[in-house]
Amino acid sequence: MDYRSVKIPEWVYENALATRSELLRRGLDALPEEVREPQTCPRCGGKMVALADEPRFECGAGCGYSQDRVGEGEGVALGVLFGLGLASLLERLGPRKMDPERARKLATARKAVAEIQRESVRRGLDKMTEPEIEAEIQAARRERRARRKA
Ligand SMILES: [Zn+2]
Repeated sequence: MDYRSVKIPEWVYENALATRSELLRRGLDALPEEVREPQTCPRCGGKMVALADEPRFECGAGCGYSQDRVGEGEGVALGVLFGLGLASLLERLGPRKMDPERARKLATARKAVAEIQRESVRRGLDKMTEPEIEAEIQAARRERRARRKA
């Protein structure tokens, strides 16, 4: 699992601790099924797909929503609580009504980005350092200027 850091207000932190205690007291089974293991995407209403190689669900419609399976037994990390809270909020908001043409274009763009990411990993470009990336950009600019003059 990958992690990101965020700064949260004190009241959110205190509520998160209280919510975790409440959840541990009641057990994860007390969570609504549509929040714990959603069958439909809380963001777009598409069908959620359980991944075979990791404990995660992803939106099959390609809106980008994904959610890890919440494991029983090891307690609940505060960060996971935020994820469940967001799932619950999206569930309450209901799926966004999106123009079908716009949805199709977004799905196509997401697939293209995913393909570019896979290709960069395959070619090892994801391991480049910032100075190496900057050097590549400078070289490409020099090449373009030279082509224009020719
Ligand atoms: Zn979705």
